[in-house]
Amino acid sequence: MKCIASGHPSVWIDSPDEVPKYPTCDSIMRPAVVWFGEDLSLAHMKMFNTVLKNCDVFLSIGTSGLVEPASIFMEIAKLSGAMTIVINPDEHVKGEADFYLFESASSGLSKLDRLIAE
Ligand SMILES: [Zn+2]
Repeated sequence: MKCIASGHPSVWIDSPDEVPKYPTCDSIMRPAVVWFGEDLSLAHMKMFNTVLKNCDVFLSIGTSGLVEPASIFMEIAKLSGAMTIVINPDEHVKGEADFYLFESASSGLSKLDRLIAE
């Protein structure tokens, strides 16, 4: 979680009795995730770019591949030499991957685990 005012990080608070507030700044807390429609920070984009350009395998799981900027992550990884794998029950998912598993996330990851073990 993080505070809304300045992003002070905090551990997850399960089922709070009231709206959780950060102890020192008194700002209300929210999950430390990027909601649909929110922008990623420049710092996060730089970090993703570094990670994507240095990964060996890129897994795209359960995403349509339509929403920017996540939709370009697989392309960056692929252009940087990573093996790309899409796990999605929708066979019309966007993007050019090396391998596709047209299954749900749970069954696709289980199948990938078995394939790796063979
Ligand atoms: Zn704060």
